[in-house]
Amino acid sequence: MKKIIFMLTTAFLLAACTGNKSETTQVSLEPDVPDSAFQYKVDRFADIEILRYHVTGFNNLPLQQKELVYYLSQAALEGRDILWDQHNRYNLTIRRVCEGVYENYMGDKSSEDWKNFETYLKQIWMANGIHHHYSEDKIMPKFPRDYFVSIVKGVDPGRMPFRDGMAADETLNEILSVMFDPNVMPKRMNQASGADIVATSAVNFYEGVTQKEVEDFYNAMKDPNDNTPVSYGLNSKLVKVDGQVTEQVWKLGGMYDRAIERIIGWLEKAAGVAENEQQRGIINTLISYYQSGDLKTFDDYSVQWVNDTTSRVDFINGFIENYTDPLGMKATWESVVNFKSEEASKRTQLISENAQWFEDNSPIDDKFKKEEVKGVSAKVITAAMLGGDCYPATPIGINLPNANWIRRDHGSKSVTIDNITSAYDAAAQGSGFNEEFMWSDAERELSKKYGSLTDNLHTDLHECLGHGSGKLLPGVDGDALRAYGSPIEETRADLFALYYLADPKLAELGLLPDNEAYKAQYYKYIMNGAMTQLTRIQPGKDIEQAHMRNRSLIANWVLENGKADSVAVLNQRDGKTFLVVNDYAKLRELFGRLLAEVQRIKSEGDFEAGKKLVETYGVKVNQPLHKEILSRYEALELAPYKGFVNPVYKLVTDADGKVTDVTVSYDEDYVTQQMRYSRQYSVLPLKN
Ligand code: ZN
Repeated sequence: MKKIIFMLTTAFLLAACTGNKSETTQVSLEPDVPDSAFQYKVDRFADIEILRYHVTGFNNLPLQQKELVYYLSQAALEGRDILWDQHNRYNLTIRRVCEGVYENYMGDKSSEDWKNFETYLKQIWMANGIHHHYSEDKIMPKFPRDYFVSIVKGVDPGRMPFRDGMAADETLNEILSVMFDPNVMPKRMNQASGADIVATSAVNFYEGVTQKEVEDFYNAMKDPNDNTPVSYGLNSKLVKVDGQVTEQVWKLGGMYDRAIERIIGWLEKAAGVAENEQQRGIINTLISYYQSGDLKTFDDYSVQWVNDTTSRVDFINGFIENYTDPLGMKATWESVVNFKSEEASKRTQLISENAQWFEDNSPIDDKFKKEEVKGVSAKVITAAMLGGDCYPATPIGINLPNANWIRRDHGSKSVTIDNITSAYDAAAQGSGFNEEFMWSDAERELSKKYGSLTDNLHTDLHECLGHGSGKLLPGVDGDALRAYGSPIEETRADLFALYYLADPKLAELGLLPDNEAYKAQYYKYIMNGAMTQLTRIQPGKDIEQAHMRNRSLIANWVLENGKADSVAVLNQRDGKTFLVVNDYAKLRELFGRLLAEVQRIKSEGDFEAGKKLVETYGVKVNQPLHKEILSRYEALELAPYKGFVNPVYKLVTDADGKVTDVTVSYDEDYVTQQMRYSRQYSVLPLKN
């Protein structure tokens, strides 16, 4: 729940719960490339595509905020090796040996083996280790073990990173089976029941201890009466020393000391240019947590952080998410530096301010309307730097802190990262997807012109208004629809958004440029719901996921109910199926009709009607169509996973060394960046 992870290939799957920026309501003043001219694509290998994100608006920040972003960005990069070592204790050795070869090998670099070696290095950079970032399976090299030995030995040992006094043979002995034997450390995190998930996971959170010993160790610490417990074990490795189970804490003077020392150094500089006293206090509390390793101090920091809603620049830096620990206690290191996107936040604010108008004009029965409705204004941010577990693969939204008692007593901050979403969107243009699945150039043009904008508006309307609109009749149980509650609720929020996208009110408010733009979203939505989202379903399976059921429900319902008037139909051409929309105005009427019915079902708690709608239109898959879509999609050879390179920031100083500006550039490619990070931000020993 904490991270909204986007790892699919097309913008069509984006209509979930994300925010984004408007491209038409505001004109940016910055002397920077426009988003449309920005080079998003960087590299493509294995199952990965590497993109670049545009830090829109950075040049318009005041100097002090730019400087703050700079120092926090440096702090974000210093933790990279911590994550590598957390993922597996051989990762740093393997990476440094591979990088040493990559940089210094003088032999044949045109062979298939060398190309495969290069791809392997790119893959482990993407995963921050030898296990796939998503599947967590060990990445098996596609070059032979003997070849690897030969290229390692083919490099002058003086140029190799055999630090810590290790010779080539000794180093190779240690890593060869880890790299090449499929049975050694096959999974980063093993969750298979029946196994000792601690002993069989390759992560470096535990050494020499059993699952039982870990559980006993932490259970002894816990006080069941503590209403505000710290996150036990969050920032340490658990090991056995002389038969005793002991924590090695990740802090200054503890494990990862050298990297943490440098993180602290940059945070101190950041504190010096903080926007306000509150923010300075937050940074200083984080520093004292890194110094002491005290988890109570980490909670203090988290409470202060969640309460800061005014600073423009914000950041995450620390041991945050516990997905990679089989026991869900130990947190990987990560960082995101960002600033509030004023444009996008203005848009959500405008929508929220008009919430009552939307409620009053909704096509639902008056008795289901709220007399007083309040819109939600979510914060939309622009990422400026990604580090640790947020790089190169990154989430599109974050909701923190994780400690349940802090969420209970102080709430949480929920943000969507608009420039990452834009990069996904832009990369999907020209992927061949629209060419394959859209009926004609007219639809492709609409998508190009309005796709991103209407996607974002759809999300805003869904999040800020859709879920909050309407009311239950007195006495109706909120859980009356049971398992159908969730798809019905998402259907309701989506229909609210779809219905209003075509309303002249949006152009009137300046949210859309004209009364045609909505057609881009209408076409895309039905194409996705009825056809292209099926690429995520295994052959022969039903649709399970609530959002996917809801999209299928809406698309198939309007196709069926618009049949008599040919409002929208699935046409055949050259043995392929395409959506054709003949009457967009009538399509809107259908959305309105379905919204009224879905609201009635919700308001009255009509379980049978809800079940029937979902089961009839949202669950079953048309098998021949599914097969056709899958094979057309496969032929496009799209990369299922995306990663990012970061921009490069540089301090500009005058003759006295005073900072006069911070510049941002985007010309670094993936390999150059990874190699540079390994030179500039790599201070940990091979073994920690
Ligand atoms: Zn929703």
